[in-house]
Amino acid sequence: MMTQTSSSASAPPALPVRNAGAPPVFQVRQVSKIFSSRTGQVEALRDVSFDFADGSFTCIVGPSGCGKSTLLRILGGLETATYGEITVNLPKSRVPQSAFVFQEHGVFPWFDVLDNVTFGQRMAGVGKVEREDVARRWIAEVGLTGFEHAYPHQLSGGMRQRIAIARAFATGSPSLLMDEPLGALDAQTRMLMQEQLVRLWEAERKTVVLVTHSIEEALLLGDQIIVMSARPGRIKEVIDVPFGRPRDVSIEGTERFAQMRQSIWESLRDEVQASMRYS
Ligand code: ADP
Repeated sequence: MMTQTSSSASAPPALPVRNAGAPPVFQVRQVSKIFSSRTGQVEALRDVSFDFADGSFTCIVGPSGCGKSTLLRILGGLETATYGEITVNLPKSRVPQSAFVFQEHGVFPWFDVLDNVTFGQRMAGVGKVEREDVARRWIAEVGLTGFEHAYPHQLSGGMRQRIAIARAFATGSPSLLMDEPLGALDAQTRMLMQEQLVRLWEAERKTVVLVTHSIEEALLLGDQIIVMSARPGRIKEVIDVPFGRPRDVSIEGTERFAQMRQSIWESLRDEVQASMRYS
């Protein structure tokens, strides 16, 4: 059975609600997803309902195979729900409503950094001068100035992910959907990138949904954390992150952070065990 709760004991973060009263950017109502194949059916999601507020940063954690990526893909229109309803309240313009960042393979190996970062805008028909101006700004924001004409294979994994993040921001989409964007990075690079993402998001306030395996990352980045159950993925719990903004990695050393991490892990542990039994 789905239990969707919100931890009311936590104080609200300092700057989350933008455009109070605006409709949720993604309104998800009783969404289920069943994949059918020659070998049978997989129920990936069951009865998921949630409102993603304008300008909010939501992290999704849950065991492998519980439907996190499927939910993200449904939000971005790459998959359709089998049952239920999704309402997207984003302006229709020449840029896509949502930009994706995936864990890997998110950059085109045959384009240099500049062409990768301008890609979304090029597809949207933005002129060369304007799109290169915007791209250079985002290349600078992610610390890649000087590498505009380097090709992905000449760069480290962390630098390649920074290209993907710069491209997502440069596209100008009001929503970013990120699937383990930092998952393939080494621990130190990941920490630096987390700090960078916090800073970029705080400056831009796009509506972000980020899937992660890391409870720490979810606490560091998110306004709220959705904990998913084992497959079929349901929302087990919604946790309001009690840390204010601007936020930096120093919160990781606090007792509150340790308590939150422990309580999220307790919520997740049963689901991870259940998913190990099924697989
Ligand atoms: P997560 O992101 O939580 O690891 P996914 O959303 O990738 O989980 O997958 C949820 C379940 O749906 C998994 O069992 C996966 O194998 C299955 N699945 C995902 N995409 C497809 C697909 N296109 N066809 C069939 N099964 C799929």
